[in-house]
Amino acid sequence: MKIERVRFGMLRVPLVTPFKTSLRTVDEIADVVIMVDTDDGRTGYGSAPATAVITGETHGSIIEAVHKVIAPAIMGMSVADLNAITDRIQGAIIKNFSAKAAMETAIYDLFGQLYDAPVYKLLGGGESVIVTDITISVDYIDKMVEDAVAACEAGFETLKVKVGKDPEMDIERIKAIYAATADKALIRLDANQGWTPKQAVSVLRTLEESGVQLELVEQPVLGEDIEGMKYVTERVHTPVMADESSFGPREAIELIRNRAADIINIKLMKTGGISNAIKIADIAGIHGIECMIGCMLESSIGVAAAAHVAAAKSSVITKVDLDTPALGRFDPVHGGVRFDGPEISMTDAPGLGITAIDGLEPLDVSNGKAS
Ligand code: MG
Repeated sequence: MKIERVRFGMLRVPLVTPFKTSLRTVDEIADVVIMVDTDDGRTGYGSAPATAVITGETHGSIIEAVHKVIAPAIMGMSVADLNAITDRIQGAIIKNFSAKAAMETAIYDLFGQLYDAPVYKLLGGGESVIVTDITISVDYIDKMVEDAVAACEAGFETLKVKVGKDPEMDIERIKAIYAATADKALIRLDANQGWTPKQAVSVLRTLEESGVQLELVEQPVLGEDIEGMKYVTERVHTPVMADESSFGPREAIELIRNRAADIINIKLMKTGGISNAIKIADIAGIHGIECMIGCMLESSIGVAAAAHVAAAKSSVITKVDLDTPALGRFDPVHGGVRFDGPEISMTDAPGLGITAIDGLEPLDVSNGKAS
C-alpha cells in the first residue's frame, strides 16, 4: 500500500446556532478535506478547519502547505512505514499544524485499513466508547441558562461554558448556570484567553467563595503568557487547563516544568496530528498530569481521529470535549465514529471507518491553486 495521490475537497456544514467565543462568532463548519489515495485503491480521509486566530492557518494556507510541501514529502512511501511518514510530515515544514494534522489523520486512516483494524485499537485502546461534554456559547444570561438546562435534559453531564468577555458578567453567568444545573452536571469554564491574570484570579476566587464548584477553568489568560498562567494556577483552587498555551510536545513540557497549568488540552489541529498528540499524552502521563482532548469547530472527520486518540489513551485523557459534530445541522460523514448525545462510539471498521462524505465539493489544485 503506497501513497499515490492526494485530492482535496471543501466540506461545509451549517450550525444549528452560531458558535460564539470571546474571540469570534462562526455560523458554519468549513473544512478542507484531503483524500490520500494508494496504489491498491484505498483512500484515507483527513480534514482541517481554518482557525486563523488560533493556529494562524486559513483554508488557502492549509491547501498550499499540503499540496506543495507535505504531500510531495511522503509521495510513494509505503503506508506500513508509519513512523517514517509522520516524521516526514512533521519535518516538511515548520508550524502549519492543521495542515499536518489533516495529512496525519488520512495516513492513520490508511494504516488502519492496511492492518484491518480501527485506529484506536492499533494505538492500544480497549474501550470503544467515550463521553463528551457540550459547549454553552457566550450569550445573554437567560439564553445561556436555557441552553445549559436543555443540554442536561439531553443527557450531557458536563457543560463547557464559554466566558471571558466581561469578568463581572461572567460571574453572574456562571452563578446563574450553576444554580440551575449544579445537581445535574459538572461545569468547566473556557475563557479563551479573555481575562488578564488578575481578573482571572478575582473571578475564580469570587466564584469559589460563593460556593460555585467548577471542574476546571480553561485558558484564563493569553496563550503566550505562560507567567500569567502560572500566576493564576498558583492562586486559585480550581484546576487550570492550558489550551491556546499548549501546541506541541515542547509547549507541554514547558508548561509542566513551570507548573503553569494543571491540565493540558490536546487538539490535533494544534499538535500537528495524532503522532504528537500521543507524545503529549505520554509526557503528561509520566508527570501525573491529566489531559483533555478537544477539537476546533470542525467536521466529524477530524473529530473521529481525536476520538480514537482519546479512546486509546483514556488513562491520561480523562476529559473529552468533542461536541462540534453535535453543533452541526447534520453530519455529512458516513461510517466512522458514531455520535449519540454525549456518547461517542468507535466501530470495528478499519482505520477511521469513513465510507462516504455528502456534499464534498472537489477542489482542483492541479494548477497549484485551489479553484
Ligand atoms: Mg479552549
